[in-house]
Amino acid sequence: MAADWTVQHHTGEFSSDTKQNLRNLYSGHCAVCGQKRESPFGHLEAEAAHIHPAQHGGPDTEANGLLLCRQCHWGFDSGWLSLTDDARIIVSNDDAADGYEYFQQFSNDPIEPPRVNDLEPLPRFTQIHRKLSGFDPINTGDQLTIGGLRSGKVRLIDGRQVIVEGSTDKALVVNCEVTSVGSQTVRCSHQTTLEQRVETDSGRTESPFKLDPVDYSFDKLEEYVREIKRDYSGVVQKWEWGRLFRNGRTKYGLSHKDIADTINVEGASELQVQRAERVYEMFPDRGYEGNEIPFSAIAELQRIFPNTEDARAAYDCIAATDISLTTMETRAWVELLLSESEVTRETVRDSVEEYVPKSNVGLSERVSRILAVHNEYLSTFTPS
Ligand SMILES: [Zn+2]
Repeated sequence: MAADWTVQHHTGEFSSDTKQNLRNLYSGHCAVCGQKRESPFGHLEAEAAHIHPAQHGGPDTEANGLLLCRQCHWGFDSGWLSLTDDARIIVSNDDAADGYEYFQQFSNDPIEPPRVNDLEPLPRFTQIHRKLSGFDPINTGDQLTIGGLRSGKVRLIDGRQVIVEGSTDKALVVNCEVTSVGSQTVRCSHQTTLEQRVETDSGRTESPFKLDPVDYSFDKLEEYVREIKRDYSGVVQKWEWGRLFRNGRTKYGLSHKDIADTINVEGASELQVQRAERVYEMFPDRGYEGNEIPFSAIAELQRIFPNTEDARAAYDCIAATDISLTTMETRAWVELLLSESEVTRETVRDSVEEYVPKSNVGLSERVSRILAVHNEYLSTFTPS
């Protein structure tokens, strides 16, 4: 059931905050060759590179990014370079053709370490990069997001043609399961179609609390954190906090605890700094706007799903319905989905009895609401 939730919500470039954070994390150096080059006018020649590509559903987050010079970026995107799970550089074709010796010298080197160690490249992203660029085999049963598909066939995976069975040419994004792998083609079965790409960029509002990265001082950070606490609550407060904390940590190489200790604001404990950053990471596009889902329910999703993308995908399913579940009803529903039991009136009732404390709200009312959300979820996110 969880696989059906791989609904894409990020296409295109990193947000400007993530790009700046990657420049800070790698101090302007290319993570592969270590070079730092600037134009005569002081402009950095370095690019924010996706590990799990955005068009294949890779998220907008620092742990899915690298700072690379143009040459290494090309090498990384074109199939010459990839990373092991412990972020060592691997190079395609060790006795490479003339003219491509340049990349060989980095083989088996560790990348430049990012200055915050909980934001180094995550294995779940490097694993996908190795599959997409031909370093690891693609196997039958692999779950892959094929992005940008406009017709039944597309040439995308390690130079091979991808044939998606049963896709319509309206499909923009599909989640697929690989059914057979040949030398020229990869066949996938079609699982989900999003007929319209959600435009998240339009109308993106600028935060009033954007610290200039050039003079990012702790006094200013503390002042903003207090102002946000005074003026905002719930998800908005956590998002604004999360962005400030993430930017501060990447600039100074600090842990969550360092930030909590340094700013000394009541309520901004190490745990809350961490949670706020996860809210920021779940909604790089502020996609929480217009939904009535309370922060406590989001915190519950964060607790159930340690992986931020899974938490976001579950959130998207709930947000796609017009019925608002309470935090504990959300938990009862999600726990049931995770258990992969069939969703029936009986199993929902069992789950509510297990997870929702008794109150004035009747059991059958809760069960009906959860079933309504579940039916809405099925009609929104499964192929017709
Ligand atoms: Zn480089």
